[in-house]
Amino acid sequence: MPFDTTYHIITSAKDTLLSIHPGGQDTDMYLDVSGLPKDVQEAISSNNTVIVSNKYIEPTPREKFISAIPFLLIFFGFIVYMLLRVRWRISDTGGIDSDTGSDAAAAETTAAPGQLTYYGDELTFTDLEIVAVLHKRFPYYNKLSNADKTRFTSRLQQFMASKIFKIHDKAGYKEMPILISAAAVQLTFGLEKFLLPNFRFIHVFPQEFIRAQEGYNFLEGNVSGHAINLSWKHFLEGYSIGDDGQNVGLHELAHALYYQNFITEENVDANFRDTFDAFNNYGNKVFNQESLPGNDLYSDYALKNFQEFWAESAEIFFEKPVVLKSTYPELYESLKNIFNQDPAANA
Ligand SMILES: [Zn+2]
Repeated sequence: MPFDTTYHIITSAKDTLLSIHPGGQDTDMYLDVSGLPKDVQEAISSNNTVIVSNKYIEPTPREKFISAIPFLLIFFGFIVYMLLRVRWRISDTGGIDSDTGSDAAAAETTAAPGQLTYYGDELTFTDLEIVAVLHKRFPYYNKLSNADKTRFTSRLQQFMASKIFKIHDKAGYKEMPILISAAAVQLTFGLEKFLLPNFRFIHVFPQEFIRAQEGYNFLEGNVSGHAINLSWKHFLEGYSIGDDGQNVGLHELAHALYYQNFITEENVDANFRDTFDAFNNYGNKVFNQESLPGNDLYSDYALKNFQEFWAESAEIFFEKPVVLKSTYPELYESLKNIFNQDPAANA
């Protein structure tokens, strides 16, 4: 059922205009013209909405109560959320351990079975701890200038603090929030907006996980709703082999970055949006070219649709920049502008 917001715009004591907006909260609002939200004003002035003139009818007490239901639900939902949050903290007795799944022997903490929740703003890793992890596992960081290294860790701390990490395993490792945040900072290091606020949750699974949609699929990662989901095993493989053009972390974060800028249209990075047209343009040509036999820079999966082509382009841009630049120079140039980074220059 579509969700509409109906604005009853009170134009005089007796008259009202009715403006129905799809995609809203399924509610009725009674406002005078000066009280309209900006996007509604814009929608009305661009005729991008249904407006009908209507006699102003004072809503009955029942209608007033019904229109208040969404706000009541939000209020009670918030109370329940706060209660659950307290419960989660009590049940999450496992600490975030040092070292990663690939060195599993180092990982013995006791933890409640099932899922662990870590609030990024409560993870108090020092910059020194973060740098130690990056130094060991994140070649991108090691190539940065000293000034950029400081900027990188600062962004990483901010990104991590803004997320909730759900670990679907017996133990969590501090590398999980640090390295996943590092991948996000890498992808967006040339952009102004890097927090991807639509994606509040990062789910980490030990390995491939199952999605029960459109049949059952095994996934190494995906993006759904407000969550970025990653298989930790595959995430680490993406960074341990840095030049094969495969990096599931960058892949999923590229989907998230696109979604944040073009679908939610909140926290939009102007540079990212403005330069994307050129990628669409050259990307389409390369997409067709790569579909022909003999061209295999991209995987078959990337040629499934343009979204997958975009996500894999991000992987190849960071992992095989020199090859990409020599094979498809215009496409490389467009990605260089989108990300405001030039990995081929320091490869
Ligand atoms: Zn994908």
